[in-house]
Amino acid sequence: MLVYLQAYLEDGQFPPRRQWKSIVGRSVERRARDDISRRLQASDQWGVTVNVVERDDCSPLWRVAKDNPRLLGVCKTILNSIGNFVSRQFIQVCELCNVLTENLTVHKMCHCHVLERRRRCVWTCLYECVGPKEYGGFTQLNDLEQCAYLFRLITELNDLQFVYFALCKAVVKVLYIK
Ligand SMILES: [Zn+2]
Repeated sequence: MLVYLQAYLEDGQFPPRRQWKSIVGRSVERRARDDISRRLQASDQWGVTVNVVERDDCSPLWRVAKDNPRLLGVCKTILNSIGNFVSRQFIQVCELCNVLTENLTVHKMCHCHVLERRRRCVWTCLYECVGPKEYGGFTQLNDLEQCAYLFRLITELNDLQFVYFALCKAVVKVLYIK
């Protein structure tokens, strides 16, 4: 935005109204995004934002979605769930089982009985991804740590591809919000 203002001061050339509106829009959007990134990282004691939040840039997951629009829903669900996981919690009702919960993400990932079958797919997939030894360690973690572990794993990217895509899809099926 500064570039345009500078140009205006120098030669009096101002972009047309519609273009200017979009420039301002983009600039505000970027600032809001940076602000969200900073707040997310500050409240992330679990390291779950490591792969998904970059300062002064958009999330690598948005680049994945841009590169492959079919993955937009997957990327959105992951980012929303991570945001929900690290933000300040309040009591909510799970719309699937009507149980009150303090952390909807943890509830769905570890406790909701309606999601039992989908959750079993996640555990099977995880076992196949990391092997018996690592999986054994995972089962010793508490529910919060298990969620964090899964988020870190499913957000691992290699060249805009999910490293553990099958696991990623299984987790998204559990966390998906309409
Ligand atoms: Zn539930």
